Amino acid sequence: MLEDAYGRIATDLRVSLTDRCNLRCSYCMPPEGLDWLPRPELLTTDEVVRLVRLAVTRLGVTEVRFTGGEPLLRRGLTDIVAATAELRPRPQVSLTTNAIGLSRLASPLAEAGLDRINVSLDTLRPEVFVKLAHRDRLPDVLAGLEAAVAAGLMPVKINAVLMRGINDDEAPALLRFGMERGYQIRFIEQMPLDAQHGWRRDDMVTADEILGMLSAEFTLEAETSEERGSAPAELFTVDGGPYQVGVIGSVTRPFCGACDRVRLTADGQVRNCLFAREESDLRGAMRDGADDDELVRRWRAAVASKLPGHGIDDPGFLQPARPMSAIGG
Ligand code: SAM
Ligand code: SF4
Repeated sequence: MLEDAYGRIATDLRVSLTDRCNLRCSYCMPPEGLDWLPRPELLTTDEVVRLVRLAVTRLGVTEVRFTGGEPLLRRGLTDIVAATAELRPRPQVSLTTNAIGLSRLASPLAEAGLDRINVSLDTLRPEVFVKLAHRDRLPDVLAGLEAAVAAGLMPVKINAVLMRGINDDEAPALLRFGMERGYQIRFIEQMPLDAQHGWRRDDMVTADEILGMLSAEFTLEAETSEERGSAPAELFTVDGGPYQVGVIGSVTRPFCGACDRVRLTADGQVRNCLFAREESDLRGAMRDGADDDELVRRWRAAVASKLPGHGIDDPGFLQPARPMSAIGG
């Protein structure tokens, strides 16, 4: 098992398959993009599959989520999903995506064994989409959502980040959109993980604010803490149910004490937290000929040193050197 010094056990592995992206969401990266990782530094398909196999068969991981950057841009994605779904015990296999290209890929991915999908969608207004993501691609995202439902990737979840002065008036409209179409929507507080280091706590739309805006138009009822378990989203039943909306207050309502996640970057570094300042290099070890036992040992050690919390509120907090797109959100 992947256990840390505080008794938390990591069973949920997030694998970044690329740091590249075809959008430029302003809470994530600058309009001009970033210097992408050089190709030789990326894990090959065989290397990704080897590490995922070790995580599932030797380290107790039960859920594998592929992310990025934009994972749909990764060549070999379907093969990686298929190889993961063939592992025993079979893990849950999911994907976080901006859905550009999903209208073409949803069916092949579902056939390869993908179980669930999270689509990022922050606005329903094309002009706001352009302002936020610096690309005019809202229709592609909406088509991708429909394709996900048609391919049976249920329940389709939507992740939305509200940015003050840009889309912070859209929470009720997004919730209504989700309710009408059966997409489960989760509002996520903006975290200090953008490449430009532009995050300001005072600008952040907080979980309390989001709940206030939703409560003005809907009746929300909170789930109990037993129902929540280790899930980062606090769920609220809307207008008597059964539909539920999620709010992820990563900054103002941290859930570090129940965190069950571990991350593998596209260049093969284990990170025990989104906000970790240290990484453990499995790619280098693999390429130097490390056997499975050695990789497992290194991975365990990387998780064992996980800190108790993300420390955003500590006076000495430093944003990690890697932005979200290179860590895998
Ligand atoms: N490109 C894919 C996407 O957008 O879904 C996968 C990678 S993206 C980094 C994963 C998730 O992180 C998205 O839902 C995105 O909204 C979220 N995200 C990115 N930067 C964030 C930030 N600074 N704060 C909160 N969430 C963020
Ligand atoms: Fe790309 Fe996802 Fe970052 Fe947006 S949040 S720029 S879609 S990686």
